Amino acid sequence: MSTKRDYYEVLGVSRDAAPEEIKKAYRKLARKYHPDVNRDDENAAEKFKELSDAYEILSDSQKRSAYDQFGHDAFDPTRNAGAGGFGGSDFGDFGMGGGFNDIFDMFFGSGTTSGRRRRTGPQRGADREIHLEINFEDAIFGLEKDIEIAREEKCDKCNGNGAEPGTKISTCPNCQGTGQVRAVQNTPFGRFETVRPCNKCNGEGKVVEKPCSACRGAGQVRKKRKISVRVPAGIDTGSRLRVQGEGETGLRGGPAGDLYITIIVKSHPRFKRDGYTLITNLDINFVQAAIGIQVEIPLLGGINHTLNIPEGTQPGDILTVSGKGVPHLHSHRSGDLKVIINVKIPTKLSKRQKELLMDFYEDGDDEKSRKGWFGKFKDAMG
Ligand SMILES: [Zn+2]
Ligand SMILES: [Zn+2]
Repeated sequence: MSTKRDYYEVLGVSRDAAPEEIKKAYRKLARKYHPDVNRDDENAAEKFKELSDAYEILSDSQKRSAYDQFGHDAFDPTRNAGAGGFGGSDFGDFGMGGGFNDIFDMFFGSGTTSGRRRRTGPQRGADREIHLEINFEDAIFGLEKDIEIAREEKCDKCNGNGAEPGTKISTCPNCQGTGQVRAVQNTPFGRFETVRPCNKCNGEGKVVEKPCSACRGAGQVRKKRKISVRVPAGIDTGSRLRVQGEGETGLRGGPAGDLYITIIVKSHPRFKRDGYTLITNLDINFVQAAIGIQVEIPLLGGINHTLNIPEGTQPGDILTVSGKGVPHLHSHRSGDLKVIINVKIPTKLSKRQKELLMDFYEDGDDEKSRKGWFGKFKDAMG
């Protein structure tokens, strides 16, 4: 039986939640449980992983419908739920004990190892997940980044066989090299034969006379690798990039797993984003708001944009600059920039400014006198 929490519950959404709602919930929670912001909470990494798993399934319509039908069993490789055999998340399908797990621990605190061990034949390496924090601007414009991660790779000293060079490797006498031992049990219901991995050779079928001193007989050592990652323009927090073959090394000639990179975008002091819409605030004074003005506003990437603020702009008005927002992933279009206007009321006025304001007040609020008056006041404001 699965002890996993319900994915909808993990994301805090209803079972009929729209994809957009699922995305929103995920982003919100991903920020909350991100291990970087929860260094003191040892459960944060686990929660974050649970969240990523839930999002991976519920954000994919095919996987989601399989999940709706079969629950967690749809993605459990030990069951055959008939869900079209999604390999699902095989993060947990990591049939090695021992030192391998500490690579996982570096990122997630735990790499769930399943009890099933497949000691014979090539085995694909486990997938691996890391998170990558990038700047707000890099998410808008995209970037190429070199990251360095360590993984277990073939030991050069023993060429992966685990034996100290020059020493003997012999066939395991316990299993005669098969890596498996059979046990026969007679019970009232009949004769049962069970097969399990040989514990003398750990299912390898071979025993070494003297373990390799570089890898202590494991045949693998931890090595750092540099990986170049291309982060596409327009990416947002929670997006996952897949780098094929950069997960854990396979066993006995099996292919390496894949590396999944979950993106976390840092916040920006002046800009926010809502999907592909970029949002910023602009302070102007009440004279500028009343008579209208052109202002240069700094955009991301070090360029300026001339913004027309129309006459009679009100506090809280939102001006839209089309195409100056976030580039769409996988297309050449861009979202819009929304500028929220904040009208500042002066806190200190000169005597002349006060007189002019009194004049304005006494003149009434008709269009013509207002225009002439604001001209004078603008001059007085310098
Ligand atoms: Zn070695
Ligand atoms: Zn053996």
